[in-house]
Amino acid sequence: MTTWHAPYAWLPDGVHADVRLVETDGVLTDVTPGLPVGPSDERLIGVVLPGLANGHSHAFHRVLRGRTHGDGGTFWTWREQMYAVAARLDPDTYRALARAVFAEMALAGFTVVGEFHYLHHDPQGRPYADPNAMGAAVQEAATDAGIRLTLLDTLYLAGGLTADGHTPLDDVQRRYSDGDVGRWHGRVAALRPTATSRVGAAAHSVRAVPAAALAELGTAAGDRPLHVHLSEQPAENAACQAFYGRTPTQLLADAGLLGPRTTAVHATHLTDDDVRLLGDSRTAACFCPTTERDLADGIGPARRLLDAGSPLTLGSDSQAVVDPFEELRGLEAHERLISGARGRFTPAQLITAASAAGYASLGWDGGRLAVGAPADLVVVRADSARTTGARPDQIAYAATGADVDRVVVGGRTIVRDGEHVLGDPARLLHTALDRLEVA
Ligand SMILES: [Zn+2]
Repeated sequence: MTTWHAPYAWLPDGVHADVRLVETDGVLTDVTPGLPVGPSDERLIGVVLPGLANGHSHAFHRVLRGRTHGDGGTFWTWREQMYAVAARLDPDTYRALARAVFAEMALAGFTVVGEFHYLHHDPQGRPYADPNAMGAAVQEAATDAGIRLTLLDTLYLAGGLTADGHTPLDDVQRRYSDGDVGRWHGRVAALRPTATSRVGAAAHSVRAVPAAALAELGTAAGDRPLHVHLSEQPAENAACQAFYGRTPTQLLADAGLLGPRTTAVHATHLTDDDVRLLGDSRTAACFCPTTERDLADGIGPARRLLDAGSPLTLGSDSQAVVDPFEELRGLEAHERLISGARGRFTPAQLITAASAAGYASLGWDGGRLAVGAPADLVVVRADSARTTGARPDQIAYAATGADVDRVVVGGRTIVRDGEHVLGDPARLLHTALDRLEVA
């Protein structure tokens, strides 16, 4: 059992002062504001936020940071660079890279990550001796870094979509594919959850999964969280309309995939009907603002989706930036730029997107400082050059990941005094990139 005392903490109904938080066996058993510091309390500093969720991650994209932004191109030319990295990873190098990336995430304040995982097989497309060697590497990496994980094991069957239908997998994509839904299901059924990791499902996109397989996946996934890239680029919409005569959102709806267990990632280029379908079905929408601007994707209708009924979540996706505060601010800032209005979301709506809604979309009941929730919390310094003078209820507009002082997951401190339990992630990243001949 641990008892903390926080000068300020973000509780479900907003920021309170002088909050006592008690953790027993990894769960919050008392959360009481307005109390003085007790003799056995461990004193926290600054503002305590609930655990923050990274709703959409591809850990290996971290390799591309700082190397793929300066030479122009498009989403599609960036994808070729990403494929070149994907072709070089094996379970050992993947584990080391993911471990470093997850440590970087934890240090920035993320307490749970949804890893959208499609690097299943060897570069020739053959199963490893352990068919889940790559997924197990991600699970071990998350365990080492102390971050919760939902491994969103991804169905990926086709190379792309044109007006004439789906195209075959290319040489790099072969390692992403199980061949059919039945084999995907058999492999994923062998993945075991751990105390801090769960196994979810994903369809890569309507480009990579034909309609019949989408419907099969909906059944095979059972009650797992189910994620899908949706309408990130206009070209996907155009191909889907040309071949199916429907938008990607309509195709998912017709396949029975929309609903509260499902998260549409990006949801950038939507029609009014698409927004209605997603909202009415309570399908979550995961925005990845720092990636979407880096890849020139566009700005999705976040406010309209929330108004329609879709919970919003946030993800670091391509790892161009790993910082929960940047994503949170990006959601609001992009809306401001296209609307000409400030305050498109309340601070509470932004914190919810970054915490409880993200947890729910990854299949966890958490991301809130309340009795019965997992003892996951993020302590943000209020005395840095960035945050000094910020009101506690607006600190997320000022802070960056560099202001995170402590991170607790399930009662275990994984970041203390701004240092991760594994040491400096930069060192881990350097070693991991070196093995891939990138550093
Ligand atoms: Zn993605």
